[in-house]
Amino acid sequence: MRGSLGSGVADAIIINGDYLEVVEVKLRRAYDIRPHLVQVAFYCLLAEEILRKRCRKVHLCYPEGCVSRPMSLSLRESVFGLVEAAEKGIEELRKAKPKKYCQYCKYKRLCPFAHGESKNN
Ligand code: SF4
Repeated sequence: MRGSLGSGVADAIIINGDYLEVVEVKLRRAYDIRPHLVQVAFYCLLAEEILRKRCRKVHLCYPEGCVSRPMSLSLRESVFGLVEAAEKGIEELRKAKPKKYCQYCKYKRLCPFAHGESKNN
C-alpha cells in the first residue's frame, strides 16, 4: 500500500461492511508490543486512505495468540508523531553532506545520502 504517509505491506486486511481491520503477523512476541502496534496502526491509516473506509481495529498475531486493540485516537497520534519525526530526520539527512564515515556504513548501498545523491539535491 502506498499513501500520503508512506508505504507498507499489511499481512491481512479484513473488510467488514464499512469498516476495516488490519492484521500483522509476527514470528516472535516482543517484550513491549507498542512498536508493533504503531506499525499495524500505520498500515491501518494507509488502508483507510486507499480503501476509503474507517479502520477501527488492529490485530497483532504472535505464535502464542493474537492481541487486538481499537484504532484509538492515541494510536493515530502515535503514528502521526512518528511520521513527523521521521520526516524531520530525513530533512536533516538531506542537508547533510556525505561524511567520511559513510564509507564504513552498512547502509551505504541503500542510502541516497551516502554519495550526495538525494533526490532533492
Ligand atoms: S551512508 Fe547514509 S545512513 Fe550511512 S552514515 Fe552515511 S548518511 Fe548515514
